[in-house]
Amino acid sequence: MKGILFIISGPSGVGKGTVIRALKAKYPQFVFPISHTTRAIRPGEKDGETYHFISAERFKSEIDKGNFLEWAQVHQKDYYGTLKKPIMDALEAGKIVIREVDVQGFHSIRKVVPKENLTTIFLKAESPEKLLERIAKRGKLPQEEIDRRMESAKREMADADLFDYQVWSLEDQIPKCVADVEKIIADQAAKAGLTIASKADLKV
Ligand code: 5GP
Repeated sequence: MKGILFIISGPSGVGKGTVIRALKAKYPQFVFPISHTTRAIRPGEKDGETYHFISAERFKSEIDKGNFLEWAQVHQKDYYGTLKKPIMDALEAGKIVIREVDVQGFHSIRKVVPKENLTTIFLKAESPEKLLERIAKRGKLPQEEIDRRMESAKREMADADLFDYQVWSLEDQIPKCVADVEKIIADQAAKAGLTIASKADLKV
């Protein structure tokens, strides 16, 4: 297997989604697997873009069939899972695969994807207070939901040292964070003998 799976984790509000959207726009040839979740669809989201929104029964049946590479209950609430087949097929085909998962997903994936096919990146913010501010800015979340996310954030930050790379995602400095992640991808791809070109290079 020649491809590389890049796992991007980090606390809620740190900007994982924004970084991945930027990579998607610039590198259309990378594979961005769609996860499954039982959480409710939010305004502005489309089914099949980042997630397939499915029922708890369907989620359970995917678990029973052994279709998930990993799955977890995130923020002690909804279930999220990445399918095994699209990721393993892409790695077999020598592709660069990028997926956001929580830290539980990171632990599961480390156990099943060979080290040479996996690079793990943890995005970190300046402080828990800043994260709170960023979460609040994104829209009205019930206090209970904010508390759950901050609980997860504390747990997640405790595992940051286990990742291959830690990248700062400071407020209003998303382009710098994206550039740092791109550099990691380019370095790892070069090591594995994979060539990558950005949309600008491809002139499309
Ligand atoms: P959100 O619902 O805000 O999009 O994501 C909530 C959390 O779920 C984030 O920490 C995100 O990284 C995590 N997450 C998203 N997709 C997956 C997945 O497929 N597996 C796991 N384990 N976590 C995921």
